[in-house]
Amino acid sequence: MALIQVTAIYPGTFDPMTVGHVDVAQRASKMFDDLIIGVAANPNKRPYFSLDERVAMAREILSDLPNVTVQPFDGLLVEFAAEVDANVIVRGLRAISDFEYEVQIAAVNRHLAASIETVFIAASQDYTFLSSSIVREIESHGGEYAEFVHPLVVDAFSLKRQAESS
Ligand code: ADP
Repeated sequence: MALIQVTAIYPGTFDPMTVGHVDVAQRASKMFDDLIIGVAANPNKRPYFSLDERVAMAREILSDLPNVTVQPFDGLLVEFAAEVDANVIVRGLRAISDFEYEVQIAAVNRHLAASIETVFIAASQDYTFLSSSIVREIESHGGEYAEFVHPLVVDAFSLKRQAESS
């Protein structure tokens, strides 16, 4: 057992949370004492789901993991990490294409806050192709995407589509 309490943050836009994200969260929750899912407001990405919707879905989806909490944040990740006393940042790596960007972000975060370590978790082979944007793309064209997300995400998409068409 580690001598210090290790709190990790798994940050992302989670627009919406996919089974790939859930897989990373489940594995990270076994590695650290506490895991905080940091849902980034990310207004420049113009998320399809609001911050409140993304947080509510992530809370419900991960409610069976006792050491996992979900919190929204805005602004610099390292500042949020300091606020919640986190010493580790978790990111998922799907492919070489993720690598360059993720390593760059990790280097910037280390520059800004040297005491916070970034840990990469390799995506499960089944989910290396999976991203929130792929899910949104399939859904917007009426394709079958239910296997890539928790059922409550499918319900959330239907509700939003109904609201848009009324
Ligand atoms: P961001 O906008 O910060 O990239 P995302 O919600 O797209 O947020 O992703 C959050 C994190 O989860 C990133 O580290 C991303 O690489 C990782 N991730 C996304 N999809 C998967 C997946 N299918 N398997 C493993 N990790 C993933």
